[in-house]
Amino acid sequence: MFEKILIANRGEIALRVIRAAREMGIATVAVHSTADADAMHVRMADESVCIGPPSSSESYLSIPAIIAACEVTGAQAIHPGYGFLSENANFVQIVEDHDLTFIGPSAEHIRIMGDKITAKDTMKALGVPCVPGSEGGVATLKEAQTLGEEIGYPVIIKATAGGGGRGMKVARDASEMESAFLTARSEGKAAFGNDEVYIEKYLTTPRHIEIQVFGDGKGQALHLGERDCSLQRRHQKVLEEAPGPCITEEERARIGKICAEACANINYRGAGTIEFLYENGEFFFIEMNTRLQVEHPVTEAIFGVDLVQEQIRVAEGLPMSFTQEDLLINGHAIEVRITAEKLPDFAPRPGTITQFHAPGGLGVRMDSALYDGYKIPPYYDSLIAKLIVHGKDRPSALNRLARALGELIVDGVDTTVPLFHALLQEEDIQTGNYNIHWLEHWLETNLQA
Ligand code: ADP
Repeated sequence: MFEKILIANRGEIALRVIRAAREMGIATVAVHSTADADAMHVRMADESVCIGPPSSSESYLSIPAIIAACEVTGAQAIHPGYGFLSENANFVQIVEDHDLTFIGPSAEHIRIMGDKITAKDTMKALGVPCVPGSEGGVATLKEAQTLGEEIGYPVIIKATAGGGGRGMKVARDASEMESAFLTARSEGKAAFGNDEVYIEKYLTTPRHIEIQVFGDGKGQALHLGERDCSLQRRHQKVLEEAPGPCITEEERARIGKICAEACANINYRGAGTIEFLYENGEFFFIEMNTRLQVEHPVTEAIFGVDLVQEQIRVAEGLPMSFTQEDLLINGHAIEVRITAEKLPDFAPRPGTITQFHAPGGLGVRMDSALYDGYKIPPYYDSLIAKLIVHGKDRPSALNRLARALGELIVDGVDTTVPLFHALLQEEDIQTGNYNIHWLEHWLETNLQA
């Protein structure tokens, strides 16, 4: 059993991991930049180490500083959270070379899934249905134009190294191909240092449905159903729910089995998410995330499991604490991502929190590192809180979300809370009738600057 782990992250996800570790009797080490000296994760951990200046590249992304922090404190394992170094295969290799344990998948699996072309090829070979498109990378504009005709417009050009909604461009017809192809390539190069792109059929009205998977690294793997993350702005998730309002028990069992078998086949270790677009009853793989997702709490709520504790267990070489048969869905859960941003254009609004009050009561979970007087630093992601509600069914979860949002107080900065109040009034949200474009359309119509 680990005695001490280090959390290479900040904010709500660092607290999430500290809480899981504490319940397991494991001591925790927080790392922080100078800008985060007063952050909640630093206060809540058993120990903390300052690892550098505000800029992420010199602190939360500094591999030498994080390894040194482990050596100084005697931490035996590192939990990366999401973002930062969580999907950096090179980091995992260095961690293991220092006889430390990375709480997550192997470097090899992170590398395979981090390159979207290789990920797609691998999944295809494992029998996972994929979006129709190019076989591998597309090197020239001419090739892209030929493929555009073959696949049929609209198509989407995606950087193989892309992430966070960047490095993707849609070409609605042949005339848009040149600019889409060149832009996706240059974005890939600028943001990820890799200009390789591939082409996919652009699905016009899909939902984003992702399957939570979990493996022990020794050939056992299972799935924890789906999350519907179709409410997106600029390809970024805003609200997530589980189970998916439009997914039947049969569909869940079928796609879940395909995903679990794929993970078992490659001896996948730890938590993973296989993302699909879902249209007309068909699933199409788009990518796999080899880490804990921001929206993992909705899955935890409906299955009554702790995914972070499970990650720690399998990193220690222990078997998973549940079987597929143990995993029965109970009710419905919804998460909203609250960011310090000003509507209508979602401009980041770091600042000082003058008053904070978290909602509570039955079925309400607030994952947040805010406190009264906290100064949100301007250097990092603008996510400040995740509000997760759980109810016996979807209507009661929605009702509970409205109640909990009404209790929440975040004063001092602008937040996206008013957006969620407004969304809850919409019939399509109440009935679950939305796809990946719904929110963008709604924002255009309802939140004109
Ligand atoms: P990232 O790694 O940047 O998150 P993804 O491949 O996961 O990129 O795609 C993010 C989002 O972009 C999807 O949830 C969906 O909204 C949209 N998208 C991606 N591929 C397609 C496609 N082939 N057709 C339509 N929309 C797509």
